[in-house]
This record gives sequence, C-alpha cells and structure tokens, in this order.
Amino acid sequence: MSEARVGRILLVGDELLGGTISDRNVRMITTALANAGVEIDRVEFARDDRAVIAQAIRRLAEGADVLVLTGGLGPTSDDVTRDGVADCLGVPLVEDAGALERLTALMAERGLGAPSENVKRQARFPRGATIVANPVGSAAGFRVRVQGCDLWSLPGVPMEASAMIDAVARAVGRPDVSWERTIATAGIGEVRVAERLEGGGFHAPPGARLAFLPGPGGVRVRVFAPGGLDADVLDAAEAEVRALLGDWALPGRSIEESVVAAARARNRWLATAESCTGGLIGARITDVPGSSSVYLGGVVAYANEIKAGQLGVDPARIESEGAVSEVVATAMAVGVRERFAAAGGAGSAIAAAGPSGAVLPVLGLSVTGVAGPGGGTPEKPVGTVWIGWADDRGAGASSFRFPGPREMVRERTVNKALEIAYRRLVESDG
Ligand code: ATP
Repeated sequence: MSEARVGRILLVGDELLGGTISDRNVRMITTALANAGVEIDRVEFARDDRAVIAQAIRRLAEGADVLVLTGGLGPTSDDVTRDGVADCLGVPLVEDAGALERLTALMAERGLGAPSENVKRQARFPRGATIVANPVGSAAGFRVRVQGCDLWSLPGVPMEASAMIDAVARAVGRPDVSWERTIATAGIGEVRVAERLEGGGFHAPPGARLAFLPGPGGVRVRVFAPGGLDADVLDAAEAEVRALLGDWALPGRSIEESVVAAARARNRWLATAESCTGGLIGARITDVPGSSSVYLGGVVAYANEIKAGQLGVDPARIESEGAVSEVVATAMAVGVRERFAAAGGAGSAIAAAGPSGAVLPVLGLSVTGVAGPGGGTPEKPVGTVWIGWADDRGAGASSFRFPGPREMVRERTVNKALEIAYRRLVESDG
C-alpha cells in the first residue's frame, strides 16, 4: 500500500470563464483518475493567455503527481496552451514530422486541402514532449514532466478529452491494485443506508474509507482505498455491503442500468407512457447501451386527447377523475403495455404471446403529474405525481408528492418510476 497520488486539473479557455459554456470535463477526468488511484484535490480555470497558463501550471504542479490540462490546443491564435507549457519549461515548440503527416492526411481525407500555417501549429509541441494520439479529432495531446509532475495536455472538446482520458489513466494507474468499489442503491435514504451498514457491523477494510454519496438517482456507497488495495479485499467489502443492503443495492451502476439488466435477465420488455416527464424516462432507459433488447418505446401523452386516442384511456374517466389520477395512470400503463405488445413484432416472444394473450412479457410504465409551476390545485398541488404500472401480475398506480421546482419534480418522477419498474421486475421472481 502506498500514499494516494495527488491529481489536479487546469481548464483553459475564455469561454469557460466568460460564462458562455459550462465545464463538462472535470467529472469525467476525476472519475477516470479516481479509478487509477489519483485523487483530484484542486481544479483551476485559466483564460487563453500563455503567461497566465504558465503561471497556473507552475502553481498546480507544485506538490502534485499528475496535472491534466484541457483546452487551447486548437489552430486559432487564441489557442496558446502549448506555448504556456513550453514557456513554463523554458523550451521551444518543435514540429513533429509524424504529427504533421497525420494532420495533413486527416485534412485531405476531409477535403480541406493542405494545412495552413495556423493549422500546422497543431503539429508543434514543447521540445521533449510525448505525443498523445487523439482518435476522434485533429488536435493531438501531449505529455511532459514539469517540476517532477506528470502533465497531460488534452483538447478541450469533451468528446475528444474523454476519448483520450483512458490513455492517461492507463499510464498513471497501477494494474496490481484496486482503488474503489461503488454500489448504487434505490429507494433508501442516506441515513438508513448508514444505519444498515453500521448497525450490521460493517467497517471499511484497513486502508479504505467509506463514503455515502446522495444524489437524485439514489445514494451511492463508495469504498475508496486512497493508496490502493488488493482487488480481493475490495471485492469482499463490496459483497458485505451488498449483503447488508439486500434488495436496496442495485446490480448496475445506476437505476436505469439496473432496470435494463433486470428486464434482460427475465426476458421482459418495457414500454412507457409519459405525460409530465415528456419522454425523460425513455431517454434514461435508452442512455444504457443495449437497451434496444428490452425497450419497445414510449408515448409522450401530454394532451388528454392523446391519452385517450393513443393509449385507450376512457375520456369520461379523465373528465371525472382528472388527468392526474390513479385511474388515468393505471389506464395509461395498461394501454401502452397492450398496444406496444401488439405492435412489438420485434420481440418474437411478444408475437408468440399474441396481443390478447394472458401473459405478455411487457412491463408498461406510466406517469402523469403536476410538474408546476402552474396547474396546481388544493387537492392536487404542484408536485403531485401518479406513477402507474401494468405487467402480467396486474396493474396499479402509486401517488407521490415531490418537492421543488419543475425540473426537480420531473427528475424525481423519472427516478421513482425507474425504481418502481426495477422492483416490479425483481419481485416477479418471487
Ligand atoms: P480543438 O482544437 O479540437 O477545437 P481545443 O483544445 O482547441 O480543441 P478549445 O479551443 O479550448 O479546445 O475548445 C474547443 C471547444 O471545446 C470550445 O469551443 C468549447 O465548446 C469546448 N470546450 C473546451 N473546454 C471545455 C470544457 N472544459 N467543458 C466543456 N466544453 C469545453
């Protein structure tokens, strides 16, 4: 076991400081490096100014093992990260023949002609730097040592930086040790998670610490070993956490991943009927790679006419009970289940069961609610949501009252609906 290594991040770009864009790189870098045993302890922003960049690098490199820069590697005159690094090291920029060749070939391939002097800057690196390939863009990154610190300079475009971060993690990581295990949960609060673990006598293994990370998608339990531990030790800790949490612990890294895994393991399909969430549940499910093997699709049934026409909800019940009601939520779930099962020629199991078959391997999930800020009444205040389900064991709906503004109500609705779907799938085993 050794001491944790310290990592830092420097984000370069006027746009980031001017409020034009918000950062999308820090979380990705932090996660990748944490998994390689590097803990980020500081993040800074710098504008596109070589002196400011050089100064920030000197400051951040002091006492750090790894420093990751993103941004400012492009072809325009305001892209000066490479100059700032070179200044800091007191070395010139030198053209790399291989990088220039790749750049020329890439531009020819895209029909952009020969590289201009500006574009050629992207083939120039501080003398002594190791070039880091960019598999998805034109600007290569580079790696140098500054004051004993391992500095990596990556492009700013999040897709490009994230395509290159694995190379960083591989180079700085140690394959002989593991650093962390994260266990996602759903439907249980932070206090109860802590009580279950502590009450059950769980202690993080020596050299590791336990953290509870609450988030809108549920509390995550993290066992983190700053200096690295044997994989077996962390595996055993994870198994103990899972045993103490029982069904509250999710098999996947998120609720949507767990829903997709649970449906796949049971040969079930999912279909969604969304009112106040406008398709967000479908979006979360389809965020999971491979969700096409379990998700048939969804209807955004916002208007009452669509709830009736597309899902077969009785207009008289919408009139008498209101669109945000148990009856309507249940009918929406039943409607989407039956109609999508009938149309779901993609699933041979569904086709075999037939549209009127008693056992349709489809879980219908629905939501209807008052997300606000308007539309609330004394009986159904803003935040009132009904979540419905329909599967081969029956149909029903539960009501919730979510606090907060519109986005929060919608996000909580999505998470709760996914949790209900997960529980229905898992409970169908029993
Ligand atoms: P490229 O040469 O591929 O354009 P670059 O290294 O020059 O990359 P920048 O010019 O600094 O990067 O930024 C390119 C674009 O990437 C910016 O317009 C911005 O939209 C985006 N970007 C840069 N840094 C970040 C960041 N930290 N988070 C989100 N987007 C970023």
